[in-house]
Amino acid sequence: MRFSRMGAVASAVVLTAALAACGSSEKTADKAAGATDNKGALIGVTMPTRSSERWISDGDNLKKQLEGLGYKVDLQYAENDIPTQTQQLDNQITKGAKLLIIASIDGTAITTQLDNAKQNNIPVIAYDRLIRNSPNVDYYATFDNAKVGVQQATSLLTGLKVLNADGSKGTAKGPFNVELFAGSPDDNNATFFFNGAMTVLKPFIDDGTIVVKSKQTDFKTIAILRWDPATAQKRMEDLLTSTYKGGAKVQGVLSPYDGLSIGILSALKSNGYGTAANPYPIVTGQDAELASVKSIIAGEQYSTVYKDTRQLAETTVKMADAVLKGGKPEVNNTTDYNNGNKVVPSMLLQSVVVDKSNYKKELVDGGYYTEAQLGS
Ligand code: BGC
Repeated sequence: MRFSRMGAVASAVVLTAALAACGSSEKTADKAAGATDNKGALIGVTMPTRSSERWISDGDNLKKQLEGLGYKVDLQYAENDIPTQTQQLDNQITKGAKLLIIASIDGTAITTQLDNAKQNNIPVIAYDRLIRNSPNVDYYATFDNAKVGVQQATSLLTGLKVLNADGSKGTAKGPFNVELFAGSPDDNNATFFFNGAMTVLKPFIDDGTIVVKSKQTDFKTIAILRWDPATAQKRMEDLLTSTYKGGAKVQGVLSPYDGLSIGILSALKSNGYGTAANPYPIVTGQDAELASVKSIIAGEQYSTVYKDTRQLAETTVKMADAVLKGGKPEVNNTTDYNNGNKVVPSMLLQSVVVDKSNYKKELVDGGYYTEAQLGS
């Protein structure tokens, strides 16, 4: 009896100590709420397609960097199919993802998934492309998209020698025949690129230096759904066999993406361009994709806009980590990206025009590609 009572007292002491210890560790955990709650959490990453190299690098960079911080990553590609992307998002929410990073295909098509994310307290970061018409987008990481358009148009004019590299007036007076292409109408970026480019081109169109011979200058008319290279190739072929049937030459093409530029260049090639007597027009691009950088080195495509996907991933990973730790990520723009429902706080990165004169410095010295990859 005595012994057992002593035993009981002893156990009570142990129990109390244990409870006290437990209480104090709970307090520590409470204090750092967020910081530890989401340690090793699952993050859902959805990318539009594997058909373009840039998205493969984006996905790889995000996964590697998030895993480096101890998170688990579910990385999905939807091959530009909207129902596939919505299903991937549904799955990630069901699997218990604590945060979603989304590069959407159609910026207006995932509202239901976002509502669902909100109900489950899952923050959402729009990656590169703004998600539209939803209040449930917390942050946006991208490049300065209007500036990308300005860079494309400026490079087009530099290639035509209407402008010098420093932006001053060049020697060429024109008139030059230029055709315009825009990206996918369901991608918010496409409008930003086009509007940015037009701020530069419009005065030169107005004063006759640039002539859009097809008269197709309206965004809807020149937009290429899903950024599809074959559609761009077909449109260029149609222009060549209609507007340019009489023998006039195309001297410049505003192309907003390397994949489109490749389609455009092959249409030009099959219509006799690309010889000493009939050179390719000045063709722009975007993304510094390997095939296009090689084409630039070969003197076919004139330029591209290089957006370092490693940097974009790094910015996004920092945002995600801050949000999951209960903090506020750094942003540098709280005015420009109204998604139709709210202005989404954004972090905008800077892009660089790359042509034959600087690809080594920007892409090789910067470690984006090796000389061996470029075959230069
Ligand atoms: C991206 C571009 C890319 C295009 C086609 C846009 O949303 O910002 O970098 O060229 O999609 O993939």
